[in-house]
Amino acid sequence: MKKLTPMMQQYMQIKDKHKDSLIFFRLGDFYELFFDDAIIAARELEIVLTGRECGMKEKAPMCGVPHHSVDTYIDRLISKGYKVAICEQIEDASSAVGIVKRDVVRVITPGTLIDTKLLDEKTNNYLVAVYGESESWGLAYTDISTGELFATELIGSNSDAMLMNEFGKVEPKEIIYFTESNTQSQFLKKIQPSFNYYLNSYSMDNNEIDEKILQIESSFNVINQNQIHSDNISLKATCLLLEYINETQKRTLSHINNLNIYNINKTMPLDIVTRNNLELTETLRARTKKGSLLWLLDKTITAMGGRTLKKWVDQPLIDEVAIKERLNAIEFLKENIILKSELKACLKKVYDIERISAKISYGSVNPRDLISLKISLEQIPELKSIFNGCNNKLFSNVLENIEVHDEITNMIDHSIIDDPPTNIKDGGIIKTGYNTELDELRRGITEGKLWITDLEKKQKEITGIKSLKVGFNKVFGYYIEVTKSNLHLVPDHFIRKQTLANCERYITSELKEVESKIVGAQDKIVILEYNLFIEIRKHLEKYLLSIQRTAKFLGQLDVIYSLAQVAEENNYIKPNINNSNTISIKEGRHPVVEKVMDNELFIPNNTKIDTNTNRMSIITGPNMAGKSTYMRQVALIVLMAQIGSFIPAKEAEIGIVDRIFTRVGASDDLSQGQSTFMVEMSEVAHILKNASSKSLLILDEVGRGTSTFDGLSIAWAIIEYINNNIKAKTFFSTHYHELTKLENEIPHVKNYRVAIKENGDEIVFLRKIIEGSADKSYGIQVANLAGLPEGVIKRSKQLLKDLEKPNKTMDNNFSDQFNEKSVQAKNHEVNEEAFEILKKINIMETTPIEAFNILYKLCQEIKSK
Ligand code: ADP
Repeated sequence: MKKLTPMMQQYMQIKDKHKDSLIFFRLGDFYELFFDDAIIAARELEIVLTGRECGMKEKAPMCGVPHHSVDTYIDRLISKGYKVAICEQIEDASSAVGIVKRDVVRVITPGTLIDTKLLDEKTNNYLVAVYGESESWGLAYTDISTGELFATELIGSNSDAMLMNEFGKVEPKEIIYFTESNTQSQFLKKIQPSFNYYLNSYSMDNNEIDEKILQIESSFNVINQNQIHSDNISLKATCLLLEYINETQKRTLSHINNLNIYNINKTMPLDIVTRNNLELTETLRARTKKGSLLWLLDKTITAMGGRTLKKWVDQPLIDEVAIKERLNAIEFLKENIILKSELKACLKKVYDIERISAKISYGSVNPRDLISLKISLEQIPELKSIFNGCNNKLFSNVLENIEVHDEITNMIDHSIIDDPPTNIKDGGIIKTGYNTELDELRRGITEGKLWITDLEKKQKEITGIKSLKVGFNKVFGYYIEVTKSNLHLVPDHFIRKQTLANCERYITSELKEVESKIVGAQDKIVILEYNLFIEIRKHLEKYLLSIQRTAKFLGQLDVIYSLAQVAEENNYIKPNINNSNTISIKEGRHPVVEKVMDNELFIPNNTKIDTNTNRMSIITGPNMAGKSTYMRQVALIVLMAQIGSFIPAKEAEIGIVDRIFTRVGASDDLSQGQSTFMVEMSEVAHILKNASSKSLLILDEVGRGTSTFDGLSIAWAIIEYINNNIKAKTFFSTHYHELTKLENEIPHVKNYRVAIKENGDEIVFLRKIIEGSADKSYGIQVANLAGLPEGVIKRSKQLLKDLEKPNKTMDNNFSDQFNEKSVQAKNHEVNEEAFEILKKINIMETTPIEAFNILYKLCQEIKSK
C-alpha cells in the first residue's frame, strides 16, 4: 500500500490542527501550499498550480510564493476573508535528524493584523470576543497593533440592541464568540452582513476561564469603570479573547497589558441607524470617509490623533464637566495661535509610536522604527516647555501625565545610526562607539581595506607595472590586474586566477589573508549587529506601557489641535453646554453640507426646542426645500457639542441629550431580508422603545412607506405617543399636511415650514425655516426642476387642476369616483359618506399627493355642511 512521504505526513499533522487556515508551509526559500489550500490560493492569488510527489499515485496539488514577498500574498488572502497559518522550520536543518521539525508559528486572521499595509493608519483594527449568557453579553475587544484592550457587559432584555450599538462603534473585523444559546448564535450570524465581520465560535471550559481570570487580575493593569466582580461576563469575554490571541499568535504580547473595563452608560450610545444616517464616520451611499463628519473634523497630524478622533466621534459624551473640559481646551488653543502652531510643529515629528510599541512587543520592530520612536519622544520636552504653566486643565493634565523618555531616546541615540536600513540581517544599524567588539571588527575592516588600497601603489613601485590595478569581484574577491603587455614583469609569487582578453588577474597569499580577515569580520559584524539590535529591542520592552500612555496623550493633544483648527477654519463657536432641557441655536449651519456646496451660500437657520411648549416641531415644505438638511443639522450640532467640538452657529445653548435617534428616508435592508416599510417601522419601534425625555428625535417622513391613509394614521399616532409617553424633543418632517392640525390639539406641538417663493409657475427655495405650515407640496414644480419631460409636467398640472376642482368632469377614473361620491355625500350622514368614499378609492393607483388632496378636499366638503 502506498504511503505519504514523511514530509507530507508532517504536513498532514499540522493541517489537521489548523483546518480552517491556509497553511503556508516553509520549504527553503518558498512557502508552499498543498492540496485544497493550494487550489484556493492558486485561484485567489492567480499563481500557477503545480503538483508535488507525495508518495501517493497522484501528485499533491501545490503552489508557492517566495518567502521575501510573502506579506503581499498573505494580505491579499486576509482581505478576502481567509486565515493564514505560517508554518516554519523550528530547528536548524543542519542538526536535524530525519525530517526537519516544522510547526505553525503564527496564525494571521482579519482581526490579528499587526504590521501590514492592510492596516489603515487612522483606524483601529479590532478583534472582538463576545460571551453570551441568558439575556446578557460580555464584550471584549483589542487592537493588537496598538495594544488597547477594552471590555464591558451588556445586560437585560435589550442586550442584543446594546451589542449592536457597540459593534457600530467598534466595527469588528473578526468576532469570536461563545454561547450555549442557539438564539444568541443565530443573532450574531443574522447581523453579520450589517457589520461585515469574520465570525468564529470558540470555547473554553469554566476551569480554564477561572484560572485565566485570576491571571488577568494579577498581571494586568485593570482600570475598572464598572466596578465589576470576577464572575462578570466582561472578564469571561476577555479570557476568550486573550486565549484566542495566545493560540493564534503563539507568543505573549506584553503590550496588551491595560484592561479597560468601561460602562456603556457613561457615554452616549448611538445605534447603527443613527450613526449611518448622520454619516458620522462614512457616507451613507459611497461608504467613504470623505463627506462624513469625521472627515470634516479630521485635521489630526498623527496616526494616534486620527484614531483618537474617531473614538471621540463614535462616542459622544453625556457628562457636562467632561464636555466642557474639551471645549475649554479647544478655546484655549484657538486663542493662543502661537502655541497652536508650535504644537503643530511638534506633532508633525511624531510617528505612530503606539503601533511601533506593538511591533517592539511582537519582535518585528525595525531600526528605522526605532529612529521614528526616538524622534517622536524627543518632542516631549519641547511640548512640556511650550505648555509650561498654561492655564488650561486638559493641557496641564495631559502634560503632567506624559513622561519624558530620556532613557529611551538616549539609548536609541547611542546605538542606532541616524538613517538605518529596515532590514536587521544585513548590518549597518549600530553606531560606532556603542560596542567595543563591533568597533574593533570595523577597525579591522577599515585597516584591511586601507592595506588593499595601498597595495596597488606598493606593487606598482615594486614591479614597475604602471597600469597595475587592484580590483574586486564577487566571484574571486580581491585581485591584482596586469595587462598582457606587462606580463613579463609579473613576479613569481603572483598566483594567476583569471585570464581576460587583454589582461590577467592574480592573487597573492598575503592579499587572500587580508581579504579573509575582512570577509570574516564582515560576517561577524552582521551577526553581532543583529544580536545587539535584538538586545536593544528586548530592553525597550520594559518601556512599552509608558510609551503607550504617552501615545494616548499625544493622540488627545492632536485631537484638540484638530478641533481647534477646524473651528477656526470654519468659523465655529463654543456652545454653551448645560443640563437643561433646551436646545437653542442661533444661525446654525449643516457642517458638512456647507463645506461641500460649490458657489452657493448655505442659509443658516435658528432652532428652539425644549421639553415644554417647543417639544415637537412638525416641519412641512416641498421636497428638496431643505427639511432633512435642517433636521440633520440640529442633530449634528448637538452631537458635535457633546463630542466636545465647537459648532457651526452664531450662538448656542445645548442642553445635554442622553441619546439621538434618527429615522431618515426610506431604504431597503435587503441583506437582512426586510422591505422598506418593515425597516421603517422597526426603526421607529426601536426609537419608541428606547428614547427618553432627554433624547433628541429626528423623524423624517415617517409613514411614507405605505399607503396614504395607513401612513397618515401611523404618523399621527406616533406623534401622540411621543408627546404623551416619551416627551422627547422631536423634529418631524412630513408631507401629510393634515398633521399640522395637531398644533391646535397638542400644546407641545409647533408647526414650521421651509419658506419658498412662488414665481409664476416656478418656485424658489429660500431654505429658511419659519413658523407656520405649508399648504401645498409643490411636487410638480419640484419634478419640473428635476427635469421630468415637459409632457409629463403639463399633464400632471392638468390632472392636478381637475382634482382640485371636484365639480368639473374629470377624465381620470379615480377622480370620477371622487366626484360622484362627493356629490352623493351631501345626502348622507357625514361619517358614512366619508367611509364610502374612502372605500371606493383605488389606493394602489393613487399617488400620495392625489390621495392627500382628495382627503383634504373631502374634509373641507364635510366641514362645509
Ligand atoms: P428635503 O428634505 O426638504 O427634501 P433636503 O434637506 O434634502 O430637502 O435639501 C435638498 C438640498 O438643498 C440639499 O442637498 C442642499 O444642497 C440644499 N440645502 C438644504 N438646506 C440648505 C440651506 N440651509 N442652505 C443652502 N442649501 C441648502
